[in-house]
Amino acid sequence: MAETIQAVRGMNDLLPSETYIWQHVEKVFQSMLQNYGYQEIRFPIVEKTELFKRSIGEVTDIVEKEMYTFLDRNGDSLTLRPEGTACCVRAVMEHGLSHNQTPRLWYAGPYFRHERPQKGRYRQFYQIAAEAFNLPGPDIDAELIVMSAQILEKLGLLPYVTLQINSLGTPNSRAAYRSELVAYLTKHQHLLDEDSLRRLDKNPLRILDTKNPAMKELVANAPKLIEHLDEESAQHFNKMQQYLTQAGVKFVVNPFLVRGLDYYTKTVFEWVTDHLGAQGTVGAGGRYDGLMEQLGGKPTPALGFAFGLERIILLMQETQQAIPVKTPRLYIINDGQDAYGYALALSTRLRKEIPGLALTLHCGGGSLKSQFKKADKSDARYAIIIGEEELKNRVISLKHLREEVPQKMLNEEELLSFLKE
Ligand code: AMP
Repeated sequence: MAETIQAVRGMNDLLPSETYIWQHVEKVFQSMLQNYGYQEIRFPIVEKTELFKRSIGEVTDIVEKEMYTFLDRNGDSLTLRPEGTACCVRAVMEHGLSHNQTPRLWYAGPYFRHERPQKGRYRQFYQIAAEAFNLPGPDIDAELIVMSAQILEKLGLLPYVTLQINSLGTPNSRAAYRSELVAYLTKHQHLLDEDSLRRLDKNPLRILDTKNPAMKELVANAPKLIEHLDEESAQHFNKMQQYLTQAGVKFVVNPFLVRGLDYYTKTVFEWVTDHLGAQGTVGAGGRYDGLMEQLGGKPTPALGFAFGLERIILLMQETQQAIPVKTPRLYIINDGQDAYGYALALSTRLRKEIPGLALTLHCGGGSLKSQFKKADKSDARYAIIIGEEELKNRVISLKHLREEVPQKMLNEEELLSFLKE
């Protein structure tokens, strides 16, 4: 026998027993995004490598270690998208969507990072994200965060997550802070791990984001960016907090929140849970006012968030959220070719007249007994039986497969009105 081939490590299949939970979560996100006036945008899964290098930053975990980069047949360097913001900004810029306009966009799909797989961390994972362009003020920051809170509330997850916020200021205020931070870290150089030593020159802020427990104290005592904010960023941050409070959204200010991507300015935030072990950030986002210009476009203030769907679903399972039950399924059993012919016509009519119906027509023949077994296994709630007798008498038998109730004999119209109910 030939050797079997398995999926790539860290890339998961989603089976029918899970996809209906995914569909529920996606529906909640999509309807809330629509409620807030966000419109869907779709872009390719593959982009030029340069896009991610220039946006995410050369000295970041993603660009240094995690991208799936390859040369295509023309010798161009392409990358499976590790995140969506850069792609969205590229598309908005390429199609002039933010030209004298303030688009609010959402998108969903898979992303790829070569990380060490563990619970809540995969090499292919799914995000739903939103971005808003050309709005500089704290009003949109607050609304975007309120929207994310409302989505979490709708999913039943709000009691299990904490909103952490911080401000990274403008590049100018960051530059002033940076030299103070470098001085502090250099003084304690012997406590820095290998990664941090490398980042000390190129990207010292990222050292604050370290996951190394041995460096926790060093980081905790480091000078804080939030105490070095420029006037405008400080006002922006204060106003946003005021709006959040007015909207009843609880938050904590975490001065060590820097996020793993270089393009953020001013507001950053994360929704964090302690119910998922090490991978506790279920969603995150922030403002990136300089990104479009950095990618060759006009200066365009913008901000957004992304939620990781695997983590949202893990948290829903962990906290035992009720998920709407699947649509009850029907299974049509048919005895012989004549019965099948009629059953096919009947099922076509039922599907046409009853939207949302989940109906499996038995194919492949076999005895009634074996068909009943299949119906039972298929998790159908009802079986519709078209046998010789039924065909002769122009009736349909309806049998409840999960409860002990008498079988019904109905004509087509009666069946239709029963199913419509
Ligand atoms: P980021 O783009 O790193 O800010 O991530 C945004 C969200 O995507 C995170 O909060 C996670 O929920 C999710 N996420 C990021 N990386 C992964 C991964 N490797 N596996 C699963 N989810 C991820």
